[in-house]
Amino acid sequence: MSFQSLGLSKALLKAINNQGYTAPSPIQEKAIPLILKGKDILASAQTGTGKTAGFTLPMLQRLSQGQSQKRRKVRALIITPTRELAAQVHANVKSYSEFLNIQSTVIFGGVNQRPQVATLKRGVDVLIATPGRLLDLQNQGFLSLSNVEILVLDEADRMLDMGFLRDIKRIISLLPSKTQNLLFSATFSKDIKKLATEFLYQPAIVEVSPENSTVDKINQKIYRVAKDKKTGLIIKLISEGNWKQVLVFTRTKHGANRLCKKMISAGISAAAIHGNKTQGARTKALAGFKSNSIRVLVATDIAARGLDIPLLPHVINFEIPNISEDYVHRIGRTGRAGASGEALSLVSADETSYLKSIEKLVGIKIPTEVIEGFEPDPNASTEPLKRGQRQGKNNSRHKKKSSNNHTKRTNTKSSNRNNNRR
Ligand code: AMP
Repeated sequence: MSFQSLGLSKALLKAINNQGYTAPSPIQEKAIPLILKGKDILASAQTGTGKTAGFTLPMLQRLSQGQSQKRRKVRALIITPTRELAAQVHANVKSYSEFLNIQSTVIFGGVNQRPQVATLKRGVDVLIATPGRLLDLQNQGFLSLSNVEILVLDEADRMLDMGFLRDIKRIISLLPSKTQNLLFSATFSKDIKKLATEFLYQPAIVEVSPENSTVDKINQKIYRVAKDKKTGLIIKLISEGNWKQVLVFTRTKHGANRLCKKMISAGISAAAIHGNKTQGARTKALAGFKSNSIRVLVATDIAARGLDIPLLPHVINFEIPNISEDYVHRIGRTGRAGASGEALSLVSADETSYLKSIEKLVGIKIPTEVIEGFEPDPNASTEPLKRGQRQGKNNSRHKKKSSNNHTKRTNTKSSNRNNNRR
C-alpha cells in the first residue's frame, strides 16, 4: 500500500516524502480514506502508531479543498489532553501543511496567553488546543468556534481520565451542529463508547493491532526489590549498563523530583518532566534528552503523553502504574518501528496487585529477577488492593497499614490522581 493510493493530494505527498515515510502505517491505511470521505471515526490507536498523520493528512486535504474565505477562521479543531501532545500535534500539522495554504497554531495553559491571542487574531485554519485554555480564550472572546468543520479528540480516554469530560461537552456545544468528528483513544472503555454515541454520527470504527502486539516486541523484565533499595538499584542498572538514554517513570511529580536529584548526586545527568514544571523547563529537558546531553528523563505518565522520542532503548518503571493500560503506554516508548527495546520495572511488595493486573492485561508472565544486595523485603506488606481500584481510593486504609514512610508519602500525595499527575 502506498500513500498515493490513499487519495492524498500532491502537496501532501510531497510533505510526506519530506518526512521520509515510505508507506502508510495500518491506522493511516484504514483511517485516511474514511476521513477523506467525510465519515466520523472512532479509532483505537496509541502514540507510536502514526495516528497523528492518520487524522491530520486527510483533515488538511479536506480543508484545502474547501478554501474560499477572505479571512482565515478556525475550521479544524484538535483537542488534546496535555500541552506536550498539543505541541507535538502542532509540529506534525505544520510539517504536513508545508505546501498548502493552511495556517495553524497551538494554545495551552501554563504560558502567557498574549502571543496566543495575537496569533489567533491574525487568523488560523487549524487550532490545536488543550481544553482549559481553549475555553478560557473563548470565554474572553478571543476565538470563535462557529466555523469549525472538523473536530478531533485525540487521546480521548486520557482526557476523560483527567476529568475533562465537562470541558469537552462544553466545547462541543460551541461548535456548529454539523461537524465531522474524529475520536481517537487508546482504549474503548464504557465512558468512551458513551461519549462516542453522544457525538459521533454513524462512526466508522477503526482498530489497529491490539495493544499486546506492541508489547510483544519489547523485552520486559521485573526486578523484585525492597522499596527503600529502588534508588540504589536504578542507579546501579543505569551506571553498569552505561545506558545513555533512559526514560524513567514515577507515579508522582514529587517522586520524579526526588529521584532526579538522587540521580544527579550519583553523577548521572537527569531531568524531571511533569505538570509542575514550566513549559520552558519541559521543552529544555526534552531537548537535552533528545540531544543526549541528559541521560535520564524522569517523567510522570501524563507529562510523558505525546512525547515524541523515537527509538528509545530503555524504559524503566521506577514504580509500576496502578492503571494497567498506563504500563502499555509507558513501555510503548521503547521498541518502536521494529527496533528492539527493553522495559524494566522495579516492583516492591506493595505493588504486587498492580503487577498481577498488568500481567493479565498484557497476557504474559513477565520474567522476574532479583539482584544480589537489592532483594525484596520479606516482611513488607503486599497491601492487597482490589483489582482495578485506583491507588487513591483506599488511602486511609493504606496509610494506616503501611509501616513505610515512603509508601505513606506516595499514597497521600496521590490521593487526587488528577492534581498529582497532570
Ligand atoms: P504518532 O503515533 O502519531 O505519535 O506517530 C509516531 C511517530 O511515527 C512519529 O514520529 C511520526 O513522525 C512517525 N510516523 C507517522 N507515520 C509514519 C509512517 N507512515 N512511516 C514512518 N513513520 C511514521
